[in-house]
Amino acid sequence: MRVVLLGAPASGKGTQGQLLSERHGIPKISTGDMLRAAKAAGTPMGLEAARFMNEGKLVPDEVVIGLVAERLEAADCAPGFILDGFPRTVPQAEALDALLASKGMPLSVVVQLDVPRELLLERATLRRTDVRTGQIYHLKYNPPPPDAQLEHRADDREETVNKRLVEYDAMTAALLPYYHERSLLRRVDGVGTMQEITERLGQALGT
Ligand code: AMP
Repeated sequence: MRVVLLGAPASGKGTQGQLLSERHGIPKISTGDMLRAAKAAGTPMGLEAARFMNEGKLVPDEVVIGLVAERLEAADCAPGFILDGFPRTVPQAEALDALLASKGMPLSVVVQLDVPRELLLERATLRRTDVRTGQIYHLKYNPPPPDAQLEHRADDREETVNKRLVEYDAMTAALLPYYHERSLLRRVDGVGTMQEITERLGQALGT
């Protein structure tokens, strides 16, 4: 199963991708997580990427394509993978197609998680991560335990989220037709409980 998960910031694609990964025993590959790790490690690439990320801008294509190409070489990707947050541009989608074609492992499906704009903003601005466990909470819908060490992602602040949503719309304007033309696109309603959305995803993936 080789899946691309498309969804706006805070659409739930990170959470659902994690559940899919556990259920099918395949890795979830998040370029956002990889870039944040590189930033935290203070590598030259990470620090360069941070300049774009902190402003809610896309990191240059060649940087993320290089990261994904290297990651897909790992043995754990052989049975399948879930891409979360990649591709975000048509050149990234083309590079991914070329890469997977060269391995004889084309994409199975591209899922778009659909969530209305006003819900996305509330989800992102109230989202917090426990820095010790990586667990994601929501101050209103999924409150953290009292001992959690909470972090608010720098790019989850309202002004930056708005910019990221504008970027997301620009991205999907080109990517959705790209995958629709290739008969790979499935839309899934991303409003509901976690379990409801997991079930809808399972149907879209035919699992
Ligand atoms: P995410 O965690 O997927 O929301 O990504 C956080 C940030 O990392 C984005 O706002 C971008 O700055 C950067 N990023 C992640 N994936 C990509 C990508 N495929 N192309 C360009 N920038 C990316």
